[in-house]
Amino acid sequence: MFPSRFDLVVAQSVGEAVEAKADAGEGGRFLAGGQSLIPMMKMRVAFPETLIDINRIAGLDAIEQSNGHLQVGALVRHADVVASDATFGAIAAAAPWVADPLVRNRGTMCGSVAHCDPEGDWNSVLLATGADVLAQGPNGERSIPIVDFVDGAFTSTLGEDELVVGLRIPVPSGRSGGAYLKLERKVGDYATVAVASHLELDHSGAISAAGLALTSVNPINTKVADAEALLVGQQPSDELFAEAAELAAAAAEPRDDVRGTAAWKRQVVRTYTMRGLAAAAQQAEGS
Ligand SMILES: Cc1cc2nc3c(=O)[nH]c(=O)nc-3n(C[C@H](O)[C@H](O)[C@H](O)COP(=O)(O)OP(=O)(O)OC[C@H]3O[C@@H](n4cnc5c(N)ncnc54)[C@H](O)[C@@H]3O)c2cc1C
Repeated sequence: MFPSRFDLVVAQSVGEAVEAKADAGEGGRFLAGGQSLIPMMKMRVAFPETLIDINRIAGLDAIEQSNGHLQVGALVRHADVVASDATFGAIAAAAPWVADPLVRNRGTMCGSVAHCDPEGDWNSVLLATGADVLAQGPNGERSIPIVDFVDGAFTSTLGEDELVVGLRIPVPSGRSGGAYLKLERKVGDYATVAVASHLELDHSGAISAAGLALTSVNPINTKVADAEALLVGQQPSDELFAEAAELAAAAAEPRDDVRGTAAWKRQVVRTYTMRGLAAAAQQAEGS
């Protein structure tokens, strides 16, 4: 199908994009990689009156470490994350699992975060690693912790006129590791179930920080805060990870669908949590 008619504004700066969005009101939509929005327009699920293309804005395509954070600009494509030397842990592990090479070449990490698809991979990774979303609107820039940003299926707390200009992910100062285990029906598919894990260890080998989040098993990417609290202060062990996996399974409310039964998906959450935490601990111990 063809999309319905729309006007196109090609923004040359963040200020211009924000202003164009304010002018367009509810009928305006930012266009980044177009890998979610364009298919939705073609299916007539979305019918923006004005598209504000942000692809020509200079300075938004960097992915780099600075001031103890991994900074990811709004025009960093999934493929840039795959190729980057600046990533670590769960971020590096997840990047090659997002969609397929064609989508990864155009789709942006920030677009995915803003889209808030509960089957999207990045928001779980960001929930596990404790990222902030940087937003710019008519009243200036603000930083939104990812836990406060993800609000529901395809819903965020981003203001109507705000553009996500980047992400800021803390770089662990000590020993750390992460994993992203994703079950998909075929290469390039959305997750049937995925689990993001992140662990940091102190000098004694005990867990000093933990992150755990689930994809595709709830109407929202889900941070498993009680499992994270259980892990902190403990020495890594199979028994501890099995306990955390029970909490993760309890936090999952998957549905029966063509991809599998709810009971089976919950079992995958349990298994992937144990495996993911074990892989994260092993990576941290070797770092
Ligand atoms: C075949 C296929 C397979 C896919 N598989 C996966 C997968 O396995 N895992 C996965 O996570 N994703 C998957 N995706 C989605 C893909 O990752 C998209 O790239 C991503 O969801 C959106 O990024 P985008 O840059 O393309 O955003 P767009 O499509 O341009 O925009 C998506 C939405 O976000 C808004 N938006 C975009 N950028 C910003 C911004 N900077 N600030 C504010 N709002 C913004 C837009 O207005 C729009 O509402 C798949 C897509 C396709 C087509």
